[in-house]
Amino acid sequence: MTDWTRSTAAELADALANGETTSVELTQAHLDRTAAVDGAVHAYLHVDAEGALAQAEASDARRAAGSPASRLDGVPIAVKDVLATQGLPTTCGSRILEGWIPPYDATVVDTLRRAGLPILGKTNMDEFAMGSSTEHSAYGPTHNPWDLDRIPGGSGGGSAAAVASYQAPLALGTDTGGSIRQPGAVTGTVGVKPTYGGVSRYGLVALANSLDQVGPVTRTVLDSALLHELVGGHDPRDSTSIDQPLPDLVAAAELGATGDMSGVRIGVVKELSGEGYQPGVLARFEESVELLVKAGAEVVEVSCPTFVHALATYYLILPAEASSNLAKFDAMRYGLRVYPDGVDAPSAEEVMRATRDKGFGDEVKRRIILGTYALSSGYYDAYYGQAQKVRTLISRDFEAAFAKADVLVSPTAPTTAFKLGEKLDDPLAMYLNDLATIPANLAGVPGISVPSGLADEDGLPAGFQVLAPALADDRVYRVGAALEKLLADQWGGPLLAQAPTLDGVAR
Ligand code: GLN
Repeated sequence: MTDWTRSTAAELADALANGETTSVELTQAHLDRTAAVDGAVHAYLHVDAEGALAQAEASDARRAAGSPASRLDGVPIAVKDVLATQGLPTTCGSRILEGWIPPYDATVVDTLRRAGLPILGKTNMDEFAMGSSTEHSAYGPTHNPWDLDRIPGGSGGGSAAAVASYQAPLALGTDTGGSIRQPGAVTGTVGVKPTYGGVSRYGLVALANSLDQVGPVTRTVLDSALLHELVGGHDPRDSTSIDQPLPDLVAAAELGATGDMSGVRIGVVKELSGEGYQPGVLARFEESVELLVKAGAEVVEVSCPTFVHALATYYLILPAEASSNLAKFDAMRYGLRVYPDGVDAPSAEEVMRATRDKGFGDEVKRRIILGTYALSSGYYDAYYGQAQKVRTLISRDFEAAFAKADVLVSPTAPTTAFKLGEKLDDPLAMYLNDLATIPANLAGVPGISVPSGLADEDGLPAGFQVLAPALADDRVYRVGAALEKLLADQWGGPLLAQAPTLDGVAR
């Protein structure tokens, strides 16, 4: 019997089209896998078995009638718990939204439903997407399928771990500073942050509106392209959505998979490697660059001097936007309401204070304080205003670099997955994980992370990042798919084939 959980989404779509399986069978196989391993992995906050199977049945009926709604009709998917899902809990990994059931779907979720993808459930995340390890989830951390004592990356560790442990062939994530790409790197999966404005943000609970992007989390580059093409494109309900057709991403991934890189100029960003990066991560990065060169690419070294300020810039702009976004959690409109102890007739303000005190975790409070401070009158010019100026300089560095190279490359994350608890009490150490991913969010450019191999020190996955100019998302797919193919030829298959099977892991 075929184990459908091992197939890619593209393979599942073909099997459905050829009548080799049904969506009910596929969906049930993934739900069974979740029942077997998610006690140990904890990728999901909420599994919707009943809903997913009902959607699968409807999909099978469409197929039987000869009218599938899309190429991926019937292929199940997991969704990060920061995206509003009508009738399904949406907590953003926070206590403050416990019990909230959105009355509407995010545009991307609505698109999934219309295209016929059964939604398996909502995946775990750092509270309000603040973090790089998923340990800031109010509902307990997710465990890395490669080593259950390690973090799966963050904030979207749940989506990455679900895909890496074969609980879902596809997932949606969100990337504000690296939350799709960094979990991809440390779990040996593929993740894409699209061009800002390329995928609708309507119904995405905002962390930082000017940085957030929804994107695919998958096991192959082609699967990311398929999902990106499905959810991408203009949405009149998102005022920052770009009203322009997407490039042909699937064709770009297929072109890349030929392994021919001739005519492609690859810029190695001087500031995004070296000091602070684990030697094994750097070694896999350098070998990957060599492989691309052997396949015909031309390498140029580029310098983006302002990138060294990206982290500081991000940690002013993000908390500023987040502090304002999180003001809406006022105990009146959504989820939790806490009445202060020992107060007879508490005022609205007292209820608000008690609710926010209980409802928000430490990292969220830290960023609200930071953001409120940075925006206070008298400090605006020194902090937020200054950060916006540096943001412009970072975009200019990208422009100059893209004049010399078609894509820019770097390791995705400076290290492999660290141990649970290792950086939890050290916010700065946690922030440093996004050193290489943050510049893309500040400039709005697209980026992909593909597995580059296992680091020598610990045998854990490392990621290779490819960045392209805004609206040229096809380039990250071409180069990503080429590297994936060249490395698979070396390894004799995908990197994930080397991960522990987790069979019998339930604890
Ligand atoms: N780790 C980064 C942060 O904590 C990025 C988060 C994200 O992309 N959502 O802000």
